[in-house]
Amino acid sequence: MRRPNALLLFRMGAALLVVATLLLTGTTLLTAWRQSTVANESLGRLRDFAVAFDAFTALAAERAPSEAALAGSGPSDPAHQRMLLARGKSDWTVERLQKAVGETFSFNFDFLRAKLAGDRARIDLLVNEPPDKRVLGEQLSVIRELIAVGETAEPAVARLARQVVRADPQIAGDVNLVRLLAALEQAAQRLPSEVLPTLAKREVLRPDLQAAAQRTQQRILALWELGSTQLVLDRGEDVMNRQLELIRGEYFGRGFPYLTRLIERQALRPNATLSPGDVRAVYEPTIAPITTLRDLFLRKMIESATEHQSRADRAMATTLALCAVVVATLLWLTVFTYREVFRPLLTFQAQILAMCERAQKRFEPYRGDVPQLAALSRALATLHRRDSERELLERERMALSERLACLASTDELTGLLNRRGFYEAISARPATQDRAFVLIDIDHFKLVNDRHGHQAGDHVLRSVGAVLGAAAGTDQVAARYGGEEFALVLSGEAAREVLARMETLRAALEALSVAVAGCEAPLRLTASFGVALALGPEDSWDELARGADLALYEAKRSGRNRVRATNRILAKAGRSAAEPAQPQALERLA
Ligand code: GH3
Ligand code: MG
Ligand code: MG
Repeated sequence: MRRPNALLLFRMGAALLVVATLLLTGTTLLTAWRQSTVANESLGRLRDFAVAFDAFTALAAERAPSEAALAGSGPSDPAHQRMLLARGKSDWTVERLQKAVGETFSFNFDFLRAKLAGDRARIDLLVNEPPDKRVLGEQLSVIRELIAVGETAEPAVARLARQVVRADPQIAGDVNLVRLLAALEQAAQRLPSEVLPTLAKREVLRPDLQAAAQRTQQRILALWELGSTQLVLDRGEDVMNRQLELIRGEYFGRGFPYLTRLIERQALRPNATLSPGDVRAVYEPTIAPITTLRDLFLRKMIESATEHQSRADRAMATTLALCAVVVATLLWLTVFTYREVFRPLLTFQAQILAMCERAQKRFEPYRGDVPQLAALSRALATLHRRDSERELLERERMALSERLACLASTDELTGLLNRRGFYEAISARPATQDRAFVLIDIDHFKLVNDRHGHQAGDHVLRSVGAVLGAAAGTDQVAARYGGEEFALVLSGEAAREVLARMETLRAALEALSVAVAGCEAPLRLTASFGVALALGPEDSWDELARGADLALYEAKRSGRNRVRATNRILAKAGRSAAEPAQPQALERLA
């Protein structure tokens, strides 16, 4: 099986790693972002809840000063001022609530305000009456209405509480405890409302009012029963425990029994000595620990939600930074590995291939920082250098062997081909019909040597060689056949005109004067020519050479300085060229 491409595997692996990391970091980020969003949402809901809570607590708190004002002497009574202050506070908190949740909160603020204004107007009317003219029934009724206004908000608070719990289900217990404490506080504040107007009138408490007071008392006890168990179970904090003890000691030890006794007595006979103010002075401060514990709770919830939210934000920022670092590192690593390792390796591969094909003259060294690759680059550079040196040697060797081959086939004296080179050259030629083989022998050459010396003889040989070489040109083959004997091979058109051409050449040699050092007159010479013509492609060079040799012999024999021809037919017949088979042609030549 073929092994997969490593680079491809690397690319695929890197892509997979990047995708996996992105997914992983994405999921982590998403989780962190969700936690942060939930924490934000939860804090927002909790703040809204606290604002609503404040608003409706302030509304409920309007009742006590209103009662005090109703029991007071009139608009000039300090109780009246306290009532106005309480109204201002509840108006401000309702305003704040509407601003905070107005758009998302389906609550009819206009109705609330209209109802509140109506009740306040009724209270003002009563307060403006002299105290003995104020009708008890009307007082009780308007206070109940005022309480009812606060209670209209109950479903809205419940809805906000549900939203808080939905945003963070873990704080459901705390939210319920706050609501329970608020309910306890309101019931405790409401309790005197049933009895104080009667006390102010110095009348006996009506049975229906006594029954209502008892119901409120039972509600208070039931709420306390529920709340105290949960508070004891849930909380271990000192501040909370202290408040719990205060509620036990102050409200349930003092305020609540005090009012219970008062209600019981008032049901039997009118009280002539106590004023509502006296009762409130004793009773109302005992409610304070409930209010404090409720506020403490709410504050603690908001504090822990704020802390939770900032923790979630911090966690998200840290996660984001870590994810960025991981992704950046991974990308850097991938790019680095590709650029610093794989790309140089690919370059090396290309360079090695180019080296094998001898297509690259220069080796490009690696310039990166990876030591192993630098070492590999050095090794390759050495290899490249040795290869270049070997190539140079190879070229020199080839040039040398070419030169040797040339020397082996060239005649040193004349520069023409020697006999060996001559046969090599003509064997490479196509054996066509139009071929002529000519042997040329200098006449009485021995005399030149004898009379003028061997060097003069060499000089003559060089001059004759030059004339023959020029006559052959690049198309035909001229060679020194041996001693003072030369050979020419003509083909094509030249072969067909061989006799005429050789005649011209013979005349040219005859006309040649060779100046020789030491001789006054230049040397003259003649040469004899033996020509053999091929009659067909089957005529071998050896046969042609033999024929030319015969014709040359004939030229010598018949007086030298002449051209004689023969052909295969003459050679085969074994007849001498002196007995020409084609006398007309030979005669013409002679
Ligand atoms: P013929 O007309 O019958 O050919 O007479 P010839 O003197 O030319 O022929 P022969 O064969 O008697 O003499 C050839 C001479 O050529 C003999 C030899 O000394 C001389 N010779 C052969 N090679 C060389 C050479 O390279 N240089 C010189 N200077 N002489 C050479
Ligand atoms: Mg000879
Ligand atoms: Mg000769």
